[in-house]
Amino acid sequence: MQDKKRIVERDAPLKKDDWIVITGAGGFIAGNLALYFQKKGFTRIRAVDKKPLCEWYLHVPGAQNLSLDVSCEDNCRRVCEGAVEVYNLAADMGGMGFIERYRVECLRSVLINTHMAEAAWQAGARRYFFSSSACAYNTLLQQDPMVRALKESDAYPAMAERGYGWEKLFSEMVCQEYWHERGMKTAIARFHNVYGPHGTWDGGREKAPAALCRKVIEAMDTGRKEITLWGNGGQTRSFMYIDDCVEGIDKIMHSDELIATPVNLGSSELVSINGLLDKIEKIAGVKLDRKYDLNAPQGVAGRNSDNTFIRKVLQWEPNTRLAKGLAKTYAWIQEQYARRKAGKRVGIG
Ligand code: NAD
Repeated sequence: MQDKKRIVERDAPLKKDDWIVITGAGGFIAGNLALYFQKKGFTRIRAVDKKPLCEWYLHVPGAQNLSLDVSCEDNCRRVCEGAVEVYNLAADMGGMGFIERYRVECLRSVLINTHMAEAAWQAGARRYFFSSSACAYNTLLQQDPMVRALKESDAYPAMAERGYGWEKLFSEMVCQEYWHERGMKTAIARFHNVYGPHGTWDGGREKAPAALCRKVIEAMDTGRKEITLWGNGGQTRSFMYIDDCVEGIDKIMHSDELIATPVNLGSSELVSINGLLDKIEKIAGVKLDRKYDLNAPQGVAGRNSDNTFIRKVLQWEPNTRLAKGLAKTYAWIQEQYARRKAGKRVGIG
């Protein structure tokens, strides 16, 4: 049966004192998103995460910070009270090491989006954002390091990443139906590897750019001039700098053309893991002896973002060059590393 197309009614511009709710805000992307909105002058930001406040990467001045678990329906109702816009970025997630090992935890994030979407709708929120992932794409299309970039239609026929990817695909569908059946304007971005300051850099959930920066810093600090890479280093990926990610979230959320329509939010600058390490070594001014752990988790062989659709709709795409973003990320991780070594408390994951 064909869906009846909904008419998109224009909504009033978001006022600076409207409530914006951001979940996962003790983590990397949502923390940076809360800061982005605060800098834009929004005065009512409700930042939510299940982590205790002392473990959040960022505390945004003036925001209402709540330490609550949003996989629980009652908490979601409380969190969404009075919300005009809701950005749901909370998820139990991490790099390949985490999502291959903890599939049940990843799948259980389905509770978060299910309850948050319902609570946002009941609260009368005008717009709802969901952070999906490139892991929702069919893995059979990603078996070669020289893959063609993934376009939005490549999610179906579905063969998503086990656990994490299927949760994202299902939650996308929840968001689509809250628009089609119930009229809540939803936005769905499929993030491709995001990196930058104020994110996980140690502890098992970190992703490749942060992990490699930390390993280079450790190698230099200990004087053991070697590094172990997961896989043969030939796997390819694209990496999006955090500033592009938060700007993209804002643009996607407020585009009427993208309502309930999954869209790639990623860089299209493809690089191999060996190439990524080359860039980090250049920043650090060091050359390390490379060892390869072929039994470590390594994910799909290759993945890149096809940005044709986002360019067409928004006349914009993430464009921070990897070398530039990595330099800022490396400097931040170096600072965290030094602080921890000096016995100071630092956020990890
Ligand atoms: P992150 O782990 O730094 O942040 C997620 C936060 O959600 C964490 O602080 C965690 O404590 C919180 N959380 C988890 N379960 C919760 C719950 N039940 N209640 C309240 N808070 C809870 O991860 P991130 O990199 O900032 O990712 C944010 C979103 O973007 C996630 O949905 C993730 O799946 C998605 N995503 C991220 C990337 C990436 O490269 N970082 C790529 C694709 C998709």
